[in-house]
Amino acid sequence: MKIVVTGGLGFIGSNFIRHMIKKYPNYRIVNLDKITYAGNPENLRDVEKNKNYKFVKGDICDKKIVERVIKDCDIVVNFAAETHVDRSIVDAGVFVKTDILGTYTLLEAAKKFKIKKYIQISTDEGYGSIEKGSFKETDNLRPNSPYAASKAGADMLVRSYIVTYKLPAVITRSSNNFGPYQYPEKVIPLFITNLLEGKKVPLYGDGLNVRDWLYVIDNCEAIDFIMRNGEEGEIYNIGGGKEISNIELTKMLLKELGKDERFIEHVKDRLGHDRRYSLDCSKINKLGWKPRFEFHKALKETIKWYKENELWWKKLK
Ligand code: NAD
Repeated sequence: MKIVVTGGLGFIGSNFIRHMIKKYPNYRIVNLDKITYAGNPENLRDVEKNKNYKFVKGDICDKKIVERVIKDCDIVVNFAAETHVDRSIVDAGVFVKTDILGTYTLLEAAKKFKIKKYIQISTDEGYGSIEKGSFKETDNLRPNSPYAASKAGADMLVRSYIVTYKLPAVITRSSNNFGPYQYPEKVIPLFITNLLEGKKVPLYGDGLNVRDWLYVIDNCEAIDFIMRNGEEGEIYNIGGGKEISNIELTKMLLKELGKDERFIEHVKDRLGHDRRYSLDCSKINKLGWKPRFEFHKALKETIKWYKENELWWKKLK
C-alpha cells in the first residue's frame, strides 16, 4: 500500500503520518509538502529516517510533481491547504490558489492514474455558522470567511469529480482540532504559549463564539477509519462532541496555567466571525467511530506537550 499524504509537515498531517507509520509499519508513506510558514520538518523528525517514509518538497498546484508522486500510489489524503482564517481575511489569494487550484491538480492526477481512493480533508467551517441544532452532511455549504470559502470550493470540486468521473473519493469535514504540533497562531497553542511566556491572551469580541473541539489524535484515527470503512462518494462529519465558548476555553487554560482573568486582553472581534459551529456526527458514529479522548484530559495533555517542547514553538513565535 502506498499512500500519498499532502501537507504532511503541518499540524494534522504530521500527526496523521505518525499515526499511520506506527499502526501500519508496512505501508509506504510519501509526504508532499511545499513547506510554507506552517510546514515544519521538525514535526516529523522522529519518523523521517523510517525506511517506509519519504518526503518530497513540492506544491500541490504543480502538475509535474503531483503526477510524479501520485502515479503509482493507491491512496491520496489531501491535507495541504492554507488554513488560518485571519490570514485569509488579510490576503485571500493564496488560499484560492492552494485550496482550490491545488485540489483541482490533485483530482486531475487521481483521475488520470485511476487511484483507488482519494480523501479530501475538508472542514466544518464550510457550513458556516449555526445558532441552534447541528449541521448534517446533506446541509448546504454557506462559508463566511475566505478560508472557509476556498475549502468549500475544493469540497465542491471533489463532489463534482465523484459525480462526473466516478472518482472514488471521500470527504471528511472535521471540527476544530487541537493537540501537539499546532502552529502557535491558532487559538489553543497561541493562548498556552502566551501564558507560558507570561503574556496576555487576545480574546476576540465577547468571547461567546462556540466551537466543537476535536483532539487531533481522534481526528487522525477517524480519517484512518474512513479510509478503511468510508463509502466511496460519501461525506463524513467528524466532531469531538465538546462544544464550548471561547471565553470558557480561555478560563480553562488560565486555570490550568495558574493565571487569572487579568491575563485576558479583549480585542476587536474578527471580521465575519462565525458564532457557532456544530456538527451532527451520527453518520460516522453509526459506521462505528466515536472520539476516544475526553476533552479536558486531552487539553491537559496538550498543555503538557507545549510545556515540554518550548524549543519547538519558541522558534515559530
Ligand atoms: P497547517 O496549516 O498546520 O498545515 C498545512 C500544511 O500544508 C503545511 O505543512 C504546509 O506547508 C502545507 N501546504 C500549504 N500549501 C501547500 C501547497 N501549495 N502545496 C503543498 N503543501 C502545502 O494545517 P492543519 O491545521 O494541519 O490542517 C490540515 C488540513 O485540515 C487543512 O486542509 C485544513 O483545512 C483541514 N482542517 C483543519 C482543521 C483544524 O482545526 N486545524 C479543522 C478542520 C479541517
